[in-house]
Amino acid sequence: MSGELYDVVIIGGGVTGTALLYGLAKFTNLSRVALLEKYCDIASVNSKATNNSQTIHCGDIETNYTLEKALKVRRASQMLVRYGDQLPAAVRERVIYRFPKMVLGIGAQECELLRHRYEEFHPYFGGMKLLEKSQIAEIEPQVVALNGHDRPEELVAIAILNEYTAINYGELAKSFVEQAQSVADKTIDLKLGTQVASIEPIGSHYQIKTAEETLTARFVVVSAGGHSLLFAHRMGIGLEYSCLPIAGNFYFTPQVLNGKVYTVQNDKLPFAAIHGDPDVTVPGKTRFGPTALPLPLLERYHLKTFGEYLEVLRLDGTVINVLFDLLKVPDIRNYIFKNMAFEVPLLDRRLFLQDARKIVPSLQLEDLQFAHGVGGIRPQLIDKPQRKLILGQAEIDPGNGICFNITPSPGATNCLNTAEQDLLRIQQHLGCRFDRSWFGAEVRAS
Ligand SMILES: Cc1cc2nc3c(=O)[nH]c(=O)nc-3n(C[C@H](O)[C@H](O)[C@H](O)COP(=O)(O)OP(=O)(O)OC[C@H]3O[C@@H](n4cnc5c(N)ncnc54)[C@H](O)[C@@H]3O)c2cc1C
Repeated sequence: MSGELYDVVIIGGGVTGTALLYGLAKFTNLSRVALLEKYCDIASVNSKATNNSQTIHCGDIETNYTLEKALKVRRASQMLVRYGDQLPAAVRERVIYRFPKMVLGIGAQECELLRHRYEEFHPYFGGMKLLEKSQIAEIEPQVVALNGHDRPEELVAIAILNEYTAINYGELAKSFVEQAQSVADKTIDLKLGTQVASIEPIGSHYQIKTAEETLTARFVVVSAGGHSLLFAHRMGIGLEYSCLPIAGNFYFTPQVLNGKVYTVQNDKLPFAAIHGDPDVTVPGKTRFGPTALPLPLLERYHLKTFGEYLEVLRLDGTVINVLFDLLKVPDIRNYIFKNMAFEVPLLDRRLFLQDARKIVPSLQLEDLQFAHGVGGIRPQLIDKPQRKLILGQAEIDPGNGICFNITPSPGATNCLNTAEQDLLRIQQHLGCRFDRSWFGAEVRAS
């Protein structure tokens, strides 16, 4: 056996990999862990603050979540809030933010839907309020105002006014690393600028090769975004999955909102409708988006990942059928074409303005500014045997000391939950101690 021996090697320094690093350092008795990240900084890809919507998803205002799904997501979001709350104040204020948030119903049908949703959900979500038009105007005046009057449509909102709702996932990932490295008497090696070339099973261990060295691990967790699937496929694992990467763009406007404003989602669509919110990294602006554009890349802005995408696509009749089935649904077809039209010069801002005006009706074309270099890519998996697109995140676990996390939205909200699941697998495989009590505790309503 060659190379330094670690109990666990994590590949990928986004919010998923760093949450696991934190969990291993704090809650297990394993003493040798390494995290390998190809870039020179933590959270340089989808977890970078500018590349995602910075939302702590709780399921309360995401109208495409059933109550059952919302309660599951809420548990993950509570872990995040609890983690954020116990950080030293100077770190906490860079990581999590309290903004009001609401989902807006526009017109009789959507208002009716929200009134029903409120009745079903508010017993479980203590901070939830149902707001009528005048109450919405008190919190978000620009959502209601139009030409000096109230906009004409019926409006109702489900709102949460005083909870942590926004997060800088990049700063969160950095805090996980700092917290992990502060644990005494453990080797927690952070290897930045270290691109993993291959993973090979050697007996009961794995060899991880980089340009500089070969490491050996008793357990490997690959949390490399879309590249997790590439690593799996190259090892002959998870071949039943293909991938449909969906990029998201954003637009900036002057500050027109005080908090997050979502709209009612079309439940036939696999992706969220655009929303508007403050950008935690750009004070004084409001950010609208994300759009949802199929883009054949594993990593946004890196054209060389096109070839890698073709490798994970594994295009065959089944994948073509799944894509064709998606296009057969008129709502999805129109939505995809609309999102493609968002990319056509001259049309782009005009079309986007129509959607953004659903939230702030007085917005003008000159208010919209395309956010260059902002927005990542969501690696949505296609399950070939089931012939369907998987909407949330997925794990591939062959059960032999390695697992792969593929994490489209709400993957970042879910990072501690994913870490918990990975820790359970590691505990089972290595027979180590894992103190799970921290993960199980519920957060107090704030
Ligand atoms: C437009 C958009 C909006 C979103 N909004 C939200 C939101 O509001 N809330 C939410 O919860 N989620 C949201 N998401 C999803 C969220 O961004 C992701 O779930 C999350 O960032 C995934 O984190 P990760 O650590 O798994 O992956 P990443 O952050 O992509 O990290 C993977 C890491 O692996 C590294 N890596 C890859 N290959 C190698 C290699 N060979 N060797 C070493 N390292 C490697 C990469 O450099 C990268 O740092 C959004 C996503 C998008 C695109």
